[in-house]
Amino acid sequence: MAGILEQEIKFLTGVGPKRAAMLTQELKINTLAELIYYFPYKYIDRTKFYKIREINETLPFIQIQGTIVSIELLGEGRAQRLVAMLYDGEMQMELVWFRGIKFVRGTLKTQVPYIVFGRPTEFNGKWKLIHPELEELGLVQDKKEGYIQPYYNTTEKMKNNFLVSKAIQKMQYNALMLCKGKIRETLPDWLTGQLKLMPLENALVNIHFPSDPHSLRQAEYRLKFEELFYIQLKLLHLKHERQNKFKGHLFKEVGNHFNEFFHHHLPFELTGAQKRVIKEIRKDTVNGKQMNRLLQGDVGSGKTMVALMISLIAMDNGFQSCIMAPTEILAIQHHQSVKRMLGDLDINVRLLTGSTKKSERALIHEQLKEGSLKLLIGTHALLEDTVEFRNLGLVVIDEQHRFGVMQRAKMWRKNFLPPHVLVMTATPIPRTLAMTVYGDLDVSVIDELPPGRKPIRTYHYYDNHRAELYAFLKREIALGRQVYIVFPLIRESEKLDYKNLEEGYEHLTQAFPLPEYRISMVHGKMKSAEKEEEMQRFKSGQTQLLIATTVIEVGVDVPNASVMVIESAERFGLSQLHQLRGRVGRGAEQSYCILMSSVKLSHESRQRLQTMVQTNDGFEIAEADMRLRGPGDLEGTQQSGLSFDLRISNLSKDGQILQYARDKAEEILENDPQLTAAQNEILVKQLLALRKNHLNWGAIS
Ligand code: ADP
Ligand code: MG
Repeated sequence: MAGILEQEIKFLTGVGPKRAAMLTQELKINTLAELIYYFPYKYIDRTKFYKIREINETLPFIQIQGTIVSIELLGEGRAQRLVAMLYDGEMQMELVWFRGIKFVRGTLKTQVPYIVFGRPTEFNGKWKLIHPELEELGLVQDKKEGYIQPYYNTTEKMKNNFLVSKAIQKMQYNALMLCKGKIRETLPDWLTGQLKLMPLENALVNIHFPSDPHSLRQAEYRLKFEELFYIQLKLLHLKHERQNKFKGHLFKEVGNHFNEFFHHHLPFELTGAQKRVIKEIRKDTVNGKQMNRLLQGDVGSGKTMVALMISLIAMDNGFQSCIMAPTEILAIQHHQSVKRMLGDLDINVRLLTGSTKKSERALIHEQLKEGSLKLLIGTHALLEDTVEFRNLGLVVIDEQHRFGVMQRAKMWRKNFLPPHVLVMTATPIPRTLAMTVYGDLDVSVIDELPPGRKPIRTYHYYDNHRAELYAFLKREIALGRQVYIVFPLIRESEKLDYKNLEEGYEHLTQAFPLPEYRISMVHGKMKSAEKEEEMQRFKSGQTQLLIATTVIEVGVDVPNASVMVIESAERFGLSQLHQLRGRVGRGAEQSYCILMSSVKLSHESRQRLQTMVQTNDGFEIAEADMRLRGPGDLEGTQQSGLSFDLRISNLSKDGQILQYARDKAEEILENDPQLTAAQNEILVKQLLALRKNHLNWGAIS
């Protein structure tokens, strides 16, 4: 049913083929619907008129009615400016132009009433308006009362072709006139009635042309609710469908493997949070449904132990498990620490990565098929089709944000009945984002660190204080501690970055000379055997400094390392900085994180570094990250595969609406799991329409 909204934009009055092409190219707008759903990014309330005497620093914009009493050209050359004196019946103030002087001068008229609009600026104790907008009062028909003006984002190219915000505003007006009375409601009547939501058409009109601030708020609320509601309905529906479709393997027994380990090999007391999470997971594995759970826990909170203990329960029930990590270093480390923790327990655990030798690989394949290999730890190599299990019951994916949905899906197919899936992440993401990106998963949180950890102290140093840094590092090394020094690595300029790292290495070998100091270096271009050897030298304490690129970002665990120096810290994102910092603070010693940066910093970089200095709390950092960068750029959003374009909602501000929308969606599915009730027909229609437009949900289910 091609409704009016599907009509192409080029037939709209005032658009035409050329502008249509530009709208398509620059903003991906093809149809009337796409135009109408291109919402303003801000509004300026022009409902109120001010007097000149009322101007103060709290008013970002003001609007004044008055006449121009004089026009003068002042100054010469580059200092030339046009000054018009505005009189509002009480007082005068200057309107000033530095550019477009000739044009403005040609249009300005004295003794004609104007509406003047602009941002007040103070000069020598006097308020002025620089480059204000002027409209003759007589020409502004039904706008005498003033109005709320929408502003639309446009690109540089559009501006050069006079496709500015005002032009879009006109198109919106024409589009809305054309569609008047023909916009189909997209939420069921019972729901809009129950929640007192503004009807869709009314909301669309008011989002572009608000009749007053109250209507604007209502329109925004309606559109935000709808946007978030359908995302949640989709995710929760998916979850229900999946749970109905796939039975889960049953881990009913808690047997020898688990008990032996728990009573005789557990190297420490579990934290309360670890115990709680293990219980939550246990429940999921005995209810006959397939588990899909996200385990969030800050760096160092002990997620690996949780993964291991669940694997032991899987073994007790005759199932195999695997743990997949995003890097080889991390996989090797998991393998080592699991083996160490299991000690003399007779459990077959093996490591599979890209560099596993042929003979070992063949052995692994064979043991997996016959079932004697109970726990396989590895990298992406686990995904390969040749890796076949006899009875895979549990998949743990560590650092989930490094993998995509497709990879998660691939692990599903490793058994006839999909295994339970536990994804773990140490990159805490804000609650609202978790609800959206991982909205189809159940979530567990480890919100407690093992006891005895001292909070890491973080300092920010400028490059010109390097001597102090080195003196500090030498003191720490003299106390027997070890130091990481990390250099940034950004793909686009790989060569340059290695140069950074190598120069840094040269420089440090001079600052920390042999024989007193020994330095390891690890980076992504090294062969894995070399990397492993260098890591091993550091781990065993043969070297005191480890210079690295971000290959050590995730999961590396050397308890004696107590200082993390991050070079060019301004080039890292917040979550990366937090991850890197998490490499220290694992032992009992006081640990430090030193952020080195140049003196010249952008506002955003400065805020990032300040956030790091102020807090160690991963969730707080995640919230700050979202505020600074917006949710779209956060790690985890893109890789998740559920790329969702939010047109109007903002996950850092609309948490409440989101929660409400999720609760509503949950409630609806509880009463009508298949959405077959007549009153929910519209929901199904809309879900299908959205599915067609956006996502390939087939990838996960
Ligand atoms: P992450 O959650 O970042 O993956 P790890 O699993 O690597 O954390 O654990 C970090 C360190 O804390 C490891 O050395 C681990 O052995 C240790 N650890 C885990 N749980 C506890 C606990 N309950 N008590 C003491 N140390 C623990
Ligand atoms: Mg970990």
